[in-house]
Amino acid sequence: MCFALTEPDAGSDAQSIRSTATKDDNEWILNGTKHFITNGRDADFALVFAANDRSKKAQGHHRLHRREGDSGVHGRARSGGHGRGRGSVRARLRGLPRVGRAGPRGPANVGMGFYSAMQFLAMGRLSIGAICNGIADYCLELGTDYAKQRTAFDRPIGKNQYIQGHIVESLIEIKASRLMTYECAWKYDNGDPVIQESSIVKLYASEMANRVVDRMIQVHGGMGWMRDLPLERIYRFVRIFTLVEGTSEIQKYIIAKTLGL
Ligand SMILES: Cc1cc2nc3c(=O)[nH]c(=O)nc-3n(C[C@H](O)[C@H](O)[C@H](O)COP(=O)(O)OP(=O)(O)OC[C@H]3O[C@@H](n4cnc5c(N)ncnc54)[C@H](O)[C@@H]3O)c2cc1C
Repeated sequence: MCFALTEPDAGSDAQSIRSTATKDDNEWILNGTKHFITNGRDADFALVFAANDRSKKAQGHHRLHRREGDSGVHGRARSGGHGRGRGSVRARLRGLPRVGRAGPRGPANVGMGFYSAMQFLAMGRLSIGAICNGIADYCLELGTDYAKQRTAFDRPIGKNQYIQGHIVESLIEIKASRLMTYECAWKYDNGDPVIQESSIVKLYASEMANRVVDRMIQVHGGMGWMRDLPLERIYRFVRIFTLVEGTSEIQKYIIAKTLGL
């Protein structure tokens, strides 16, 4: 499936989307351009967000559309760091797809699309937390093993306090991140709202994973930057997680809003 919210002129400010949904008899017709849509090339099921009244912004006037079979989201794929963006598509929705008022997976979600998107993103942010914890854990394992094996000045590099600092700080941050993630997942499982928690998890875990892989490259010295080891690939890959599903700045904005700021 693919999740088509972002547009060329509406990323962080998702309420500003310009794609429109207009009614034609019993069907909705979508027009607009979507951007950076992961799995957009291959999806046979799409969640597409459009507005039927742009003046009302999130106040119940975005729409959630679902289509079975062919997602109707076609377009040019583009590449990002490490080619990971290859499945990301810019798609024109000119007159397509037509979405029935009711379908096997439910009707167009009139008036609640923006809130549906936020719920979907809260779950996605929690998942990114789990992914980042796993990635950081793996990097720490590589760094710890290397610190025991590699010698300099006639002793393992792991006997040096600077190297120990890189490893211990990473261990503590991973542990904190994992506990935050578990707490958020537990609340999510209990059906509690997790808007604040999922943003905290996503913000902390994605930045933590970037710090950890950077430190573990440092522990490996020059070898850390070489393609013989997976670290340089992970270094490029993990960078995406402070951008997708809301940037770090936007997570801070959301968290601040939950505090009434
Ligand atoms: C590989 C990839 C896959 C993606 N997959 C999908 C997908 O499947 N579906 C989908 O809908 N979208 C997808 N996206 C889009 C992604 O969610 C957006 O790129 C992201 O939300 C940021 O939007 P933007 O790129 O337009 O940046 P902009 O909104 O232009 O932001 C630019 C900078 O300004 C900052 N900024 C903006 N507003 C504020 C503010 N109020 N306060 C502080 N700073 C601010 C941002 O944090 C950022 O640093 C994907 C993106 C990438 C790169």
